[in-house]
Amino acid sequence: MDYRRRQVQVRSLLSGAKLDALLVTHLPNVRYLCGFTGSAGALLVTKKQPVFFTDGRYTAQAQEEVKGARIVIAAKAPLTTLAEWLGSQKAVTRSLKLTGFEADRLSFAGHRSLARSLPPGIRLRSTPGLVETIRMRKDGDELERMRAAALLGAGLFDRAREVIRPGVKETVVAAEMEYAASKAGAEGMSFPTIIASGQRSALPHGRASLQPIPADGFVVCDFGVILAGYCSDMTRTVYVGHPSEEARSAYSAVREAQQAGIEAVRPGAKLGEVDAAARKVLQRHKLAKYFTHSTGHGVGLEIHEAPRVAANQEDELRPGMVITIEPGVYLPDKWGIRIEDMVAVTETGCEILTPTTKELIVC
Ligand code: ZN
Ligand code: ZN
Repeated sequence: MDYRRRQVQVRSLLSGAKLDALLVTHLPNVRYLCGFTGSAGALLVTKKQPVFFTDGRYTAQAQEEVKGARIVIAAKAPLTTLAEWLGSQKAVTRSLKLTGFEADRLSFAGHRSLARSLPPGIRLRSTPGLVETIRMRKDGDELERMRAAALLGAGLFDRAREVIRPGVKETVVAAEMEYAASKAGAEGMSFPTIIASGQRSALPHGRASLQPIPADGFVVCDFGVILAGYCSDMTRTVYVGHPSEEARSAYSAVREAQQAGIEAVRPGAKLGEVDAAARKVLQRHKLAKYFTHSTGHGVGLEIHEAPRVAANQEDELRPGMVITIEPGVYLPDKWGIRIEDMVAVTETGCEILTPTTKELIVC
């Protein structure tokens, strides 16, 4: 991972935002910028070398992981250490009049105590997701990890197909998939596995419950793994029993919408256009009113990150972005269907990272 290049990118955003420094407290951003994977740390990116702060539990880990930053360790919370360190570094403090902080990521209490403890002369300014903007476009190392995560994640669907049978509890299906993920080397699941069967499939975020899979109905399986820090995310909907003509045609409408979304993905396309491409197909099938969420989201170190693939989003796709395309329809008390792939924007179009078939699978 080229941490130094990322630090340079932040520095160039700092000049544009007229900031002297950026205080990074959101841990995935800290990891992105210097490699630290622990649970307590903060990074101060200045115009010179960044400084990383953590506590004594992470002495060895910080020395091993942190790249391109000076490391400061004390037996206190990282932000307290930061404030005290700044108090002892008059030359640094003088150069940091306006320091940005991650407004979406620092609690009210955290901000208040930081503002009180910083040396006089340093003003804090709330900044929108500067690091998140850089993280949207994955570099080659990241794309490699994301391909591997998507591939491992897709393998879990094979396990789901073996386990899904009428009478088997949804939680058992999820547990079998999660066990398979751990055995295959995943660090964890990127979110609680969704197994939503029968009428529950109409809940777009129906976490696996104790409900047994009914003898007849759709089962929405939405799941992902974390591998080398990067998240995968995919959804497949299978049918248990004998699908009616109506169920089959609703499935193929969602599949067609998902395909249309993927075909709209190319550099320069507006995110809103990708959303509209999927939505238009469902309109044609008179199912658009049952498509109650946006078409997709960015994915990477976090399961949901920028950009949003949603109606009227004017921002444009750029090579290196990794997004999901996941239209779905949800008929309350009846059924739900969703199909989701991860795609990476390339120089000319997109690469689908999820290798799994989208044919309707009947179990
Ligand atoms: Zn998903
Ligand atoms: Zn998703």
